[in-house]
Amino acid sequence: MSDVEQAAIPCPFTYANGRRCCGVIYRAIGYGPRRNGDFAFREDVRKYRLWCSEKDDHEGSVSTRWSKERMEFYPDELAPGVEDKLWERGIVNQ
Ligand SMILES: [Zn+2]
Repeated sequence: MSDVEQAAIPCPFTYANGRRCCGVIYRAIGYGPRRNGDFAFREDVRKYRLWCSEKDDHEGSVSTRWSKERMEFYPDELAPGVEDKLWERGIVNQ
């Protein structure tokens, strides 16, 4: 596995038919209380919103009233190591 593949964060979105999205996460926003500036620090993040290389935030792929939250995840809903990768790669709040 190359360094690039190891660094890639698979999109956690799963379609209704059970198929996993094949995109990778390239952007994230951490929501939480703000101290200085416009964004929450890592230790304050309550929830992440993710964008993937295939469908961005998957807007339009789900038509339920829950669709707004389909790419929002609490930190403990992310796969092990994903939160670390988001911050290591510097794609949070960029
Ligand atoms: Zn995706």
